[in-house]
Order: sequence, then structure tokens, then C-alpha cells
Amino acid sequence: MREYSFIIAAGGQGTRLGGKKQFMTLAGRELWRWSAETAAMTDRVREIILVIPQNESLSPEWTHDVPLHAVNGGSERALSVLNGLNAATCDYVMVHDAARPFATRGLFRRLMDAVSEDAGVVPVLPVSDALKRIEGGEVSCVDREGLYITQTPQVFPRLKLIEAVRCFPSAKDEAEAWEKSGHELRHVDGERMNFKVTVGDDMTIARALAERRITRTGLGWDIHRLIPGRRLILGGVRIESPLGLLGHSDADVLTHALMDAVLGGAGLPDIGTLFPASDERFRDADSLGLMREVMSLVNAEGWTVDFADAVITAQVPRLSKYREEIVHSLSEFFPVNIKFKSAEGLDDSGRGMCMTCRAVATLGRVIV
Ligand code: MG
Repeated sequence: MREYSFIIAAGGQGTRLGGKKQFMTLAGRELWRWSAETAAMTDRVREIILVIPQNESLSPEWTHDVPLHAVNGGSERALSVLNGLNAATCDYVMVHDAARPFATRGLFRRLMDAVSEDAGVVPVLPVSDALKRIEGGEVSCVDREGLYITQTPQVFPRLKLIEAVRCFPSAKDEAEAWEKSGHELRHVDGERMNFKVTVGDDMTIARALAERRITRTGLGWDIHRLIPGRRLILGGVRIESPLGLLGHSDADVLTHALMDAVLGGAGLPDIGTLFPASDERFRDADSLGLMREVMSLVNAEGWTVDFADAVITAQVPRLSKYREEIVHSLSEFFPVNIKFKSAEGLDDSGRGMCMTCRAVATLGRVIV
């Protein structure tokens, strides 16, 4: 399986925006971080190399499993990219502009599918506007037939690209150096949203896009039998009670309903599928540990959990004095509100035979 180093060229001066644009923030994240985080969530990307300006030092906060290393660039783009290529360790590289925050994993995958040990790949889009050439004040029309604009990331076998960039340091991009070296250059469809933030108006458009979120709601429900001789655990908190909940795991009915609500909102399989009761690994499992796994799955899909609300129905024991401790325990994951209902002596929970829990979770994701 091919593995990739994702190199982000953020070594430029970006003076057209009146500052180093790659470090300007977009919805609270530096411009370079948008594509770095998308790359960190992409299969087969093993490391991220951030090429920062010459003579600057930066050790960015970074919490993803895929490591990120910052290296200094050079005086020219080609020298900066070369520093990134030399710091990289994978056989294949994706070279990306920091100023393109909205490239998607779908694009990364198309590029990975098209590259080979002999051929590099670039994303392209057909020119959709009519073109003019202005020389000495004279305007002439240019036929746009067959003309395309080029985007990044551009993907190549690393060692051959190093040779090409060394031979053609004044090339406008890596694809030009690659093609001038006589190698095969392939193309895949680019993305309109993957535009380059170059002038002030671009930043205005980028901000409008970055602040657009989609919101989803997920629903979870769970039930466990209440019996003597078992511990009672709700939201990871041990409750004093002669009766406890029966189940394969620790039977934390609240955490189970919350996990299914969160997974539901993200459109992922439920806990019965992820952590089957038939699997011995989950015997007496700590449900907060399972919630950590759920959160990493959900976060890997780009979702954050904004809020969750839950109702526990139980006739016994009295639970309200544990509310604060339970909310605090679950605050490791997201803000949560908990309500307790007696069942008015009705149905099986009202007869003290079981506890049920209903939960809803609200999740948000930036549209990329
Ligand atoms: Mg359960």
C-alpha cells in the first residue's frame, strides 16, 4: 500500500493580503491548519510537513495521531518545497498550498488513486470565463478551448520529484518541473471550493464558507434489567444502591444511550454493532472507555458534539443527588443535561425491574 507525506507550502510572504496569510485565522483556525486537519483524517497519509517561512520558528499545537513537523522554507518556492521533500519520509508526496483551505478528502483520494511510480497527478478545472490578452494597451481574445487551471495538492513519487525540482527551480509549480523533466503527468477533476485565498475578497468568501455548518441530531435509547448483586454505574459514576444493572459491559444505561445518540447524529453504526455483546473484549467494559472510542470515530468524520440531553427513567434508587457528579463525569466528552423521572409505578421501570434512558445529541460539522 502506498503511503504519503502531505507537504504544506506555507513558506511564502503572502504580502498581497497585508500579512502572512497562511497564519491568518479562518473561523478560529489558521489557514494552513484546515488542509492539515483534512490530511490528518485521510487514510494512507502518514505525516504532515508544514514548510514555514525562512528564519521563523513555530511549534504548532497539534493533537492528531498523524504527526506534524514544521520545517523552514527557503528564499524561493522551489527551495521551500525541496526542504519539505527532504524532510519527508514516505515514497509518495502530496504538495499543497497552505492558502487552499477547502480541499476535500475526496480530492485527496482521487489523486492517490491516479498516481503511479512513473506518473504525477494534478487536479485541474476547465477555464469557465472568456479570456483576453492585453499587450501594450491592446485587447485581443484568447480561445479558452483546452485550457485548464491547476490546483493543489499535486501528487508525485518523492525521489523523482526531488530530482525534477532541483533541475527546474524556476518552474511555477511542481507539475511544471515534473513535466519539463519528461515524466508523465496525469490529471483528475479539481474542486471549485478548493480556490486559493490570494486577495482580500477571497478571504471574505472563505470566511463565509468556513462559518457555514451543518447540524444534525441523533437519538439513543437503552434499557437494562435492575437486579441485586450488581454495581450501579451511570455516566461513569458509581451510585450507592442495593440493585445494579445487568449487562455484558458495566451496563451504564446512560452512557449507552448517549453513545447511540452521538453515533446516530454522525450517521455511524450503533454500539451493538461496534461493541457486540458476543465479544469477550467488552465483558464488564468501562462504558466511558467505549465513549472515548466513539468520540474518536465521530471526530475523525469531522463532527463535534455541541450538546446532549438525556432522561433516565427509574423508580429506584433516588438519583437526583448524583446529577452534578454525573454531568461533571460526562463533561470530558461534551456538555450534557441529565433528567431523572420516576415511572409513577407504571410499567417495568415503575416496578423497579429495569432502568431506561433516552438521549438526544446535537452534532455540527463545517461543510468541507
Ligand atoms: Mg446498554
